[in-house]
Amino acid sequence: MIQGISIAPLSSTINGRIITSDDAEYDKARTVFYGGNDRRPAAIVRAANATEVARVIAFARATNTILAVRSGGHSNAGHSVCEGGIVLDLSAMRTLDIDVEQRTVWAETGLTAIEVTKATAAHGLTVGFGDTGSVGIGGITLGGGVGYLVRKYGLTIDSLLAAEIVTADGQCRFVDAKHHPDLFWAIRGGGGNFGVATRFKFQLHPVDTIVGGLLVLPATPDTIAGFIAAAETAPDDLSAIINVMPAPPLPFLPAEKHGQLVIFAILVHVDGGETGQRAVAPFRALATPLADMIRPMRYPEIYPPDDDSYHPTAVGRTMFVDKIDRPVAETICDYLQSSNASVRVAQLRVLGGALACVPADATAFAHRASRIMVNVASFYTSPEDRVVREKWVSDFAAVLQQSDTGAYVNFLGPEGETQIHKAYPGATWDRLVEIKRRYDPTNLFQLNQNIPPMKAN
Ligand SMILES: Cc1cc2nc3c(=O)[nH]c(=O)nc-3n(C[C@H](O)[C@H](O)[C@H](O)COP(=O)(O)OP(=O)(O)OC[C@H]3O[C@@H](n4cnc5c(N)ncnc54)[C@H](O)[C@@H]3O)c2cc1C
Repeated sequence: MIQGISIAPLSSTINGRIITSDDAEYDKARTVFYGGNDRRPAAIVRAANATEVARVIAFARATNTILAVRSGGHSNAGHSVCEGGIVLDLSAMRTLDIDVEQRTVWAETGLTAIEVTKATAAHGLTVGFGDTGSVGIGGITLGGGVGYLVRKYGLTIDSLLAAEIVTADGQCRFVDAKHHPDLFWAIRGGGGNFGVATRFKFQLHPVDTIVGGLLVLPATPDTIAGFIAAAETAPDDLSAIINVMPAPPLPFLPAEKHGQLVIFAILVHVDGGETGQRAVAPFRALATPLADMIRPMRYPEIYPPDDDSYHPTAVGRTMFVDKIDRPVAETICDYLQSSNASVRVAQLRVLGGALACVPADATAFAHRASRIMVNVASFYTSPEDRVVREKWVSDFAAVLQQSDTGAYVNFLGPEGETQIHKAYPGATWDRLVEIKRRYDPTNLFQLNQNIPPMKAN
C-alpha cells in the first residue's frame, strides 16, 4: 500500500524495479543531485520501456497520485523527487541506436549526456548537451540545452529531429515537424509539462578532436570584460563557459591564490588543430594564466569526471544580460567579494552563433536574441544560512539586471510563477498553455516549471 493506495495492480504489470522504503536501495534511489531535497516518495518505479511508462502514467492518473519524472535527477528545483507519490525513474531505459551514415542517434531518456557523447564520439560525431556529463538527456533536452557547442550547433533542441512521448492519456506519440508539430514545438523548451519523453532522435555533428579545456586567469574588472569581449568576437566555432569565483583549493593552482577571485573558464573550439589554437590565443593573452590546460583532445574529455556522492546545497538565480563591460565586471567582483560562502560564483556564457540563427518562435525556447546568460549561485550550509545566501543571490541578480528580462528554464530553482513567465514570455506562454490544455488538461505533469492548463470556457 502507498498512501492508502494499493500498488499491486501496478506492480503486476511492471517488469522494471519498484522500490519502496522497505528496500535497501531506497535512500540511494530517492537521492537527487542537489542536497536539501530530502523527500520520501511512496514508490520509485524504474520503468523498462514506453509501455511501462504508460502504465505508470495511467496508474497515477486513475489514483490521483502525485507523479515526479526523473531522467538524470539534476533538476535545479528538485522536481524529480516527491514527498509521497511516485517517482517515475527512467534510468533503466538506456538503449542507444546510432545511424552513422545518416548521422543520427535514437537515445532513450535514461541516458546521461556523457553516455550519449562517448557512444557517438566513437564515430567522430556528437550532439551538444551542457557542461556536466551526469545531467540526464531528458531534462536538459526538454528545457533547451546550452553547452560547449552552443555557438557552433545551437541548443540541444536545435539538433532534435523527433521524439517519442507518452502523454497524460497514456498514448505513446511519435512527434516531429510533421507529426503533432504543436507538441514537437512545445517540448523544445517547454520542459516536462507535456508528457514523458522516452526517446529522442538527434542530428549528429562531426566533432572529433577539439582544442579545449580549462583556463584559469586572475579575475579583475579588466580581465572579465576582456574575456567576454574575446568570447563575443571569437568565431562561432568557439564556445566558452566562464565562471568567476574565488579560486578553489585545487592542487594545480598556486596556494597563495586560493580564495582569490579567478576566471575559471572552459573553452571549446571544434577544430583540433592550428585554427583552434589561434582562436584561443586572445583568451590566453589577457593575463598570465594561473593554469592553462587547453590542449587538443577528443571531445568527450572536456567533461570532468563526475562524483556520485557529490550533493551540494546551493541557491541560484539565472538571467540574461546584454553586455558585460568594465563597470558590470566591477559589480561582479564586488558582489563576489562581499560574501563569505564557501562556494560562490557568477557563471557567464556568451550566446549568439547558431543559437541566434533560429527564429524566436520556432521553439518554446524563446531567447534567441539574448546575448549573455548569467547564473549566480552560492552554496549554503543550513536553513538559516540558506536565507542569507538567498538574499545574496537575489540582490546580486537584481544589480546585474539590464534590459533583457528573460530566464532559461533549466536553471530556474523553485522560484514560482513570475520566473516561469520570464522563461516563457508573451506569445510563447499563451501557446504553451493552449497545448498543455490539449495534452494534459488535468495537469498530471505538474512537478516541473509548471505551465498550468488554461481553464476551459
Ligand atoms: C551540475 C549541473 C550542471 C548543469 N549544467 C547545465 C548546462 O551546462 N546547460 C544546461 O542547459 N543545463 C544545465 N543544467 C541544468 C539541467 O539541464 C536541468 O537541471 C535539467 O532539467 C536536468 O535534467 P535531468 O534529466 O538530469 O534532471 P531530472 O531532475 O531528472 O529532471 C528534471 C525535470 O525535467 C523533466 N524531465 C526529465 N526527464 C524527462 C522526460 N524524459 N520526460 C519528461 N520530463 C522529463 C521533469 O519535469 C523533471 O522534473 C545543469 C544542472 C546541474 C545540476
